[in-house]
Amino acid sequence: MSHVALVDARLWRLLLMADRDLAAEVRAAGCVCGGTLHSARYARKPRGGPPAELRGEYCWRESLCCAREGCRRRTTPASLRFLGRRVYLGAVVVLVSAMTGGVSAKRAAAMRAWVGVTIRTLQRWRAWWLRTFPQTAFWQGARAQLAPPVDERRLPGSLLERFADDLVDGLASCLRFLAPITTRGGCTMAA
Ligand SMILES: [Zn+2]
Repeated sequence: MSHVALVDARLWRLLLMADRDLAAEVRAAGCVCGGTLHSARYARKPRGGPPAELRGEYCWRESLCCAREGCRRRTTPASLRFLGRRVYLGAVVVLVSAMTGGVSAKRAAAMRAWVGVTIRTLQRWRAWWLRTFPQTAFWQGARAQLAPPVDERRLPGSLLERFADDLVDGLASCLRFLAPITTRGGCTMAA
């Protein structure tokens, strides 16, 4: 695995297009009240970002708002770009976490130089992948679809390996697989 995928504009374009498609699907379905959904995207200041020409697009999280008076319900589609509220983009969280399995000092220093991630952040991500993520309702249901079972002690590397050999495509597919956890309630703990 190489961090080179993170400087490939193709990755960031793929993720951007996927998010636009997800937003279009939600918009076409309309609000649960039957009302029309309008764009109400909100500003984000992500780190570990895409090349300069795409950065403007990455400062917005797709979101929709019902146009009907008295409803105004907000619907935020799943995202391949933003992994919940993390300031680092999902692609960075997945790939960097996968590459720094044991968080050796040397690897951590390399990652810090490449994308500015501190060792504390790496450790927090690692704790999330190894302890929190496996307990989510999403993973409890999703892991059953993966045969042979994914080694939970090596998340997210063991998961990323299940997707395309090409790292850009594999990363995009992995983020698509994880997209349900990016919506509200998507990361709830299993009972
Ligand atoms: Zn509505």
